[in-house]
Amino acid sequence: SVGHHVLQMGSQIMLVKFQLSEQQKEFQSVARRFAREEIIPQAAHYDKTGEYPWPIVEKAWKLGLMNHIIPQHCGGLELGIFDTCLIAEEISYGCTGIHTAMEANSLGTSPLLVAGTKEQQKKYLGRLTEAPLMCAYCVTEPGAGSDVAGIKTSAKRCGSDYIINGEKMWITNGGKASWYFVLACTNPDPKVSAGKAFTGFIVEANSPGVTPGRKEWNMGQRCSDTCGVRFDEVRVPKENVVGEEGAGFKIAMAAFDKTRAPVAAGAVGLAKRALDESTAFALERKTFGKPIAEVGRLQIPRCNRSNRECFHIRIYKFTSMAQKLLYAQYTDKGKIERLQN
Ligand SMILES: Cc1cc2nc3c(=O)[nH]c(=O)nc-3n(C[C@H](O)[C@H](O)[C@H](O)COP(=O)(O)OP(=O)(O)OC[C@H]3O[C@@H](n4cnc5c(N)ncnc54)[C@H](O)[C@@H]3O)c2cc1C
Repeated sequence: SVGHHVLQMGSQIMLVKFQLSEQQKEFQSVARRFAREEIIPQAAHYDKTGEYPWPIVEKAWKLGLMNHIIPQHCGGLELGIFDTCLIAEEISYGCTGIHTAMEANSLGTSPLLVAGTKEQQKKYLGRLTEAPLMCAYCVTEPGAGSDVAGIKTSAKRCGSDYIINGEKMWITNGGKASWYFVLACTNPDPKVSAGKAFTGFIVEANSPGVTPGRKEWNMGQRCSDTCGVRFDEVRVPKENVVGEEGAGFKIAMAAFDKTRAPVAAGAVGLAKRALDESTAFALERKTFGKPIAEVGRLQIPRCNRSNRECFHIRIYKFTSMAQKLLYAQYTDKGKIERLQN
C-alpha cells in the first residue's frame, strides 16, 4: 500500500490516500524482484555494449511484465495505466534502457487500442502475446519531431492498397520490430488541416521496401535500439489502415494518453535508483576520516524522503485521474471531495 500523504500545492493542503489492491501489490513485487535479480546484474553490460537485451525481454514477456495493456480478447492482461506505472517504476529502477525497449511495445500498440478494428487487434496485438516480439511507433522523421504535422512520409492510394514512401527517425525498436504503426500523409493539400491530412497504417516489418537504418548511439538508454526506418514503395493493404483515412494525427496523439504516464513513472524509478546509489556511495566513501555524507555540502538532504513521496503522489494522482478511477480522496479545508468518474 502507498498509504496516506499530505500534499501542499500553494496554499492548498490535500490529504491524498492511495491503496493498492492485492493484485497491484503482486505486480509491483514481481516487477521489483525481476529488476533486482534479472536486470540490475546485466544492466551495465547492455548499456556498455548497446546489445539488445533479448534474454531479459524474453523472461519479462514470460512473466507478463510486457504488453500488459493488450486486451484480454487478444490474450493480454488488459491492465490499466495505473498498474502499468507501478511496473514501469520498478523496471526502470533496474535500467531505463531496458525499460524503454520493453515499453516501446505499449507505444506501438496504443494506436490499435485507440482505433484498431477487432480483427487488427487480434492479428497484431495477439501476435505480441503469442511470442516475445516487438513492435514500433513510427511518427518522427529527420525533419519533423515536436511538429508532428510537418512529417513528409506519404501514402498514396493504389487500387485496394496504399504505397508508402518516406523516412522515419529515432524509432525505438526500429530494427527489432515485427510490425510498425506508421503515420503518413494521405492528403498533401496545404489547406487541409492536420486532423484530416494524415493516416495511420500497420506495416509488416518484412514488407518489401522496408529498411531499418543503423543503430543510433544515444547518450543514455543505449540498449533500447533507436534507429531510422526507410519506406520505399512499400505496399500496404487498405485493411491495415488504423481507424479511417485522414484520422491518423488524432490517433497518433491519443496513443500518448496511454503511454506518457508510464514514461513519467519510469523517470521516478530512475530518480529513486540515482538517490539510492548516491546515498550508498556517500555513506561508504570516506574523506578526513568521515563518510562524505557527513561532510559539509555533501550532506544528504533531509528532504529526500518527502521529495520521493511527492514524485509518487503526482504520478499516482495523474494516472488515477487519467483512468477516471476513485483512487484518491482529497481533503480541502475540511471539505471532502471525491474524484468523479
Ligand atoms: C531515445 C529516443 C527514442 C525515441 N523513440 C521514438 C519512437 O519510438 N517513435 C517516434 O516516432 N519518435 C521517437 N523519438 C523521437 C521523439 O519523439 C522526438 O525526438 C521528439 O518528438 C522531439 O523531436 P526532435 O528530436 O526532432 O526535436 P525538435 O522538434 O527539433 O525540438 C528541438 C528542441 O526545440 C524545442 N521545441 C520544439 N518546438 C518547440 C516549441 N513550439 N516551443 C518551444 N520549444 C520547442 C524542443 O523542446 C527541443 O528542445 C525518440 C527520440 C529519442 C531521443
